Amino acid sequence: MKIEFYRHSLTEKDIQNVADVLRSVFLTTGPVTAVFEEKFSQFAGLKQTVALASCTAGIQLSLLALDIGPGDEVITTPMTFIATATAILHTGAKPVFVDIEPDTGLIDPNLVESAVTPRTKAIMPVHLYGTMADMRCLRTIADRHGLFIIEDSAHCVEGERDGVRPGHLSDVACFSFYATKNLTCGEGGAVATDNETLAGKIRTLRQHGMSKEAADRYHGNYQHWDMVELGWKCNMDDIHAALLTDQMDRLESLWKRREELDTLYRVALRDVRGLSIPSIVGRSAYHLLTIQVPSDLRDDMLREMGNRGIGVAVNYRSIHTLSWFRKHLSPKPEAFPKSLRFGEQTLSLPFYPLMADEDVERVARAVKDIISSWHSNS
Ligand SMILES: *Cc1c(COP(=O)(O)O)cnc(C)c1O
Repeated sequence: MKIEFYRHSLTEKDIQNVADVLRSVFLTTGPVTAVFEEKFSQFAGLKQTVALASCTAGIQLSLLALDIGPGDEVITTPMTFIATATAILHTGAKPVFVDIEPDTGLIDPNLVESAVTPRTKAIMPVHLYGTMADMRCLRTIADRHGLFIIEDSAHCVEGERDGVRPGHLSDVACFSFYATKNLTCGEGGAVATDNETLAGKIRTLRQHGMSKEAADRYHGNYQHWDMVELGWKCNMDDIHAALLTDQMDRLESLWKRREELDTLYRVALRDVRGLSIPSIVGRSAYHLLTIQVPSDLRDDMLREMGNRGIGVAVNYRSIHTLSWFRKHLSPKPEAFPKSLRFGEQTLSLPFYPLMADEDVERVARAVKDIISSWHSNS
């Protein structure tokens, strides 16, 4: 039996909710999206949520709404998915990478300040695997230099660190509901913030810069709309939102199961020679379970796990090593040695609430088998 890398936890009720939307008049951004936004704000403890087509759109619109663009720099981490940096690039601003803490894989706040220049406008931490970056420290640096903070919280809906949750010490936090994320509708995202002016701007930017959204235009008699900004098209529709509304009520129980699985993995894989698991600080959202193995053997393990019918992935190879970044930003591979190394050693294991305890045992046994075959060959 194959153990998939990821399986969603959508229910028949979620599917029914989508069917209900499909049988209704309104398909695009409307009442169901509004219900989801309200539930998400409640959960996040923030005033406003704006639901979008993706987290990438959320990052890009947040930057645009904060007037960040050509000539500006945004400090971020190379240990992330490419979208963190491509969203910055699409505004015309430049991503400036700083290296990571090797034990957590998170942006090293001690390196952020020396990367600040007169062009720096914002810091964009990534809450890798669900553990939050050190927001208190980043907030202090941001205040000292008058910088915005935009959180790439794609991995972290449920996290908390030092009493801080996503969006609570920043201007805005961006979330992803992509197919493999903790909360999913296939493709989707949102931004959440306490800044109502900023939320309003992002709400306008998500829909062509129009003064009224479809739901307002068709509510009651026809009303004229105006174009007040040069906007984009990345609103979430009610079909997708219908997958999220009931899921919000299950967030906590799904999180609890991932916490159990995380513990099972850490117990099963402790004291394995040549293997470590990144540390968690505070309350993790438990998005991914990754291990670190010797870089010269990592690809061998990817192959061997595949051969055993166990889904694995790499999150991530340090993005400064990818062709486009090498060509256009010309970073030296050794410029971020910790991220480079972390990315060469990392491997993600199956990790989702539907996994049985025995699945974790089987995955852990395969990992240990493969590692012991290395030792007996050397
Ligand atoms: C998934 C992900 C994104 C992009 O999310 P989309 O919703 O697919 O746009 C951005 N950053 C990180 C760290 C991610 O894992």
